[in-house]
Formats: sequence, structure tokens, C-alpha cells
Amino acid sequence: MFDTHTHCMHSHDSQQDPEELIKFAIQKGLEYIAVTDHYDGELTLLPEFSYIPQIDLDNHFKVMSSLKEKYKDKIQVGVGIECGYMAEADGIYLENLKKYDTDIIINSVHTIEYEDCYMPSYFEKRTKYQAYYAYLKAVRDSVDAPYHYDSIGHIGYVIRKSTYSDISLDYKDFSDIIDDILKAIIAKGKALELNTHSEGTGLDFLPSTEILARYKELGGELLTFGSDAHRTSRLCANYDKACHAAKELGFRYLFKYLNHKPVAVKI
Ligand SMILES: [Zn+2]
Ligand SMILES: [Zn+2]
Repeated sequence: MFDTHTHCMHSHDSQQDPEELIKFAIQKGLEYIAVTDHYDGELTLLPEFSYIPQIDLDNHFKVMSSLKEKYKDKIQVGVGIECGYMAEADGIYLENLKKYDTDIIINSVHTIEYEDCYMPSYFEKRTKYQAYYAYLKAVRDSVDAPYHYDSIGHIGYVIRKSTYSDISLDYKDFSDIIDDILKAIIAKGKALELNTHSEGTGLDFLPSTEILARYKELGGELLTFGSDAHRTSRLCANYDKACHAAKELGFRYLFKYLNHKPVAVKI
């Protein structure tokens, strides 16, 4: 087992001690764990989110590099970060990420049209089609981000806090833009993330099986597994389900990232 997407107390929304997380991963038998704390550079451009503390990058990378070294005989530690994509924040990531040695960078959309789609207000002023289309448009733009990243995080995230009576994001309703996203990921040699932090979505993982199937159909191979755990108890959550679903669709490998190189792990 391995996990390419986890958080520790270097993220504003986690209290998890990073060393305890790594020790727990060793105990659970993981061969690799990437700690990919939130770097919400986009929120520094939006005054209404100034109350959300920003990650201390120097500290994060220093601590993770030393833990990587300390436990290298027991587990591979991927030094990582999760960028919150917003076009206007491109310069922030370009400028700051090059200062650090990293193994994996996840590019994720949390903010859409300057709003946080974790807030009900995002949905209240939009029809479902508008809300989801704007999200997918942001994901499409994120694939073209000019800074280096390895995988596109949790496609379908917008439905987690969706307030509509039917929250489903059906491939058929957005097939053109979803195909465009998947083709761009493949063309750029990036990975699609299978993310099992799917509370509130009614799904075992994001993206949905039909989007995952379409990715395979279009020739997609690079697939990462991420539990998006913010505490030890969720580490590798639903790993078996995700592997099983990927295998059923014809994927033979999942990938972990070391120094931004995909390393195949047989399913
Ligand atoms: Zn995220
Ligand atoms: Zn995350």
C-alpha cells in the first residue's frame, strides 16, 4: 500500500503530528507516503480568506526532508505540497516552489470564481449546471498551470458540499469539458488522482467511476492513489476499493512520485 496525498499539522485544517503520521504508515505496512500539505496561495489574494493561516513553507519542507531521511530504511517519504489553483496565483507558486526540493506536487481546485466551493453560498447563487461547469472550467485551466505539478487532485470536489437535491456530477452532462480535461492531462504527461476523501459525495472515490473509465478509454495510464487523510485513522482509506475499481477498468498500475518521477506500483 502507499498514499500520495496526506496532510499534517502544517495544514490549517489538520492537527496531525507529521512524525506520528509516518510512524503510523510504517506500522500499517505502507511502502510510501507523501505528505502534501495545503499551500493556499490563491487565498492570499482574497481578503475574505485572510483568517485562514498560510503554511510555513520553510518549516514544512525542513521537517519533511528530515523525516524522509530519518525513516528512509523503513518507508519512502514523498515531500509534497497541494497547491490550491487559481490562475491569478500562478506567479506565487512559480516563484516559491522552485526554492524547495519536492517529490510530488498536487494541483487542486478549491476556489472557483473567487469563491470557496465548501461554502453553501457558492451553490445558492448558481444553478447546478453553472456551479459545476465553472468548477470544471477551473480544473481545465489548472491543467495548464505554468508551475510544475504532477497530478490533478480530486476531480469532482465541487460536489462534496453541494446543496442541490441531486448532487451528482454526471459525465454525460459535461462530457465535452471533462474530455477536454482528461485529454489535456494525458497530453501533458500528468497524473489523474484517485482520491478517497469522498465524504458527502455518495461515492467511494473521486473522480466517479464513469470519469475514470473515460480517462482509461482516452489512453490515460498515470493514476495516483490519495486518501487525503488529515489524521492517521484515514490513512489509505478505501485503498482496496479504489484498486479494485481501477483494475476492473483495465488499469494495471498506480503510481507514486519520487523527485517528480512516476514509479509504477502493480495493482
Ligand atoms: Zn484538496
Ligand atoms: Zn488534500
